[in-house]
Amino acid sequence: MKFNKVLKNLSTYEAGKPIELVVREYGIDPKEVVKLASNENPYGTSPKVVAKIESLAKNMYLYPDDSMFELKEALANKFDLESKNVIIGSGSDQILEFCIHAKCKKKSNVLMAKTTFAMYEIYSKQVGANVIKTESSQHNLKELSKLYKKHGADVIFLCIPNNPLGECLDKDEVYEFLKTIDKNTLVVVDGAYQEYASFKDEKKRICPKDLISKFPNAIYLGTFSKAYALGGMRVGYGLAQPEIISTFYKIRAPFNITTLSLAAAIEALKDEDFVKECIAKNFIEMKRYEEYASKKGFEYIPSYTNFITILFKDFVSKTVAQKLLERGMIVRDLTGYGLNAIRVTIGTNDQNTKLFKLLDEVLEGLK
Ligand SMILES: *Cc1c(COP(=O)(O)O)cnc(C)c1O
Repeated sequence: MKFNKVLKNLSTYEAGKPIELVVREYGIDPKEVVKLASNENPYGTSPKVVAKIESLAKNMYLYPDDSMFELKEALANKFDLESKNVIIGSGSDQILEFCIHAKCKKKSNVLMAKTTFAMYEIYSKQVGANVIKTESSQHNLKELSKLYKKHGADVIFLCIPNNPLGECLDKDEVYEFLKTIDKNTLVVVDGAYQEYASFKDEKKRICPKDLISKFPNAIYLGTFSKAYALGGMRVGYGLAQPEIISTFYKIRAPFNITTLSLAAAIEALKDEDFVKECIAKNFIEMKRYEEYASKKGFEYIPSYTNFITILFKDFVSKTVAQKLLERGMIVRDLTGYGLNAIRVTIGTNDQNTKLFKLLDEVLEGLK
């Protein structure tokens, strides 16, 4: 069958491997498998949210409230915005897709850092847009500016902080950059890990209200999948000026998140203490990774997220990840991103202890 030509050279997004796969392929007890591959909150979902969902399970036969009134109000309230500034997606991934579909067609230019969230490129290429990347792996605004001056762009993606590397631009430098961007270029500020970055360093904090008031061509994306511990519920949001939001509504399918997802997100916003506690623990545990890497002489990228990227010289990351997998430890190999590195989600204290032990064992065996 002939398909749309743009799909020919498009690779399929490789998601973090699920626990079920390790159980199936290596016969490991599911209780023994540790997943540190998709940057989920390792402390699990807030008990209050779990209780709410259990009480609502009987409602699944009903379509959700498609206006998503309560969730949009809660988000508007949290960010001191209005409902008309908010759109909800099936993960913020779906909103990334809206961004591309609203702005791009064949031969549009889309600008991004060389090593950043893979879906930016995939959505762009789906519509035949040209993807233009910086030479540097990490975000480099000077290079992005140069490319913008040379090629222009319909969409620019900034991942703040960046997945899969963990580095983070300062708010001030982002604003300086935005001042030089044409009002017809949509700038996507992907804040999937902003809760972590702004906890670690106030200079990194992006206030969505301030961002979209100063730069009406910017959209801020947030997700419930990471710090809010709802990866399995698929809820994300976009915050922008009404002109952008109302246009995205023309692309959105009705009922794009579920009745239970909607309730979970609303409930999660009521338990910010839980989120704060998890973030604080994340950075305590992160220190252990930094110490581990330093002790072993591995280079790592200082991270503003809930994961850390460790670079190898004398080992092949793909082999290391595979050997860990066979022992029931799932991490992310970054070979596909052109790096000899693994990305590890910061787990709980016990999970991290187990990772260090297994990694020692694997590396010893590879010497
Ligand atoms: C996880 C992630 C997302 C979106 O996740 P959803 O589960 O679709 O909300 C977006 N951007 C980055 C950089 C991410 O890491």
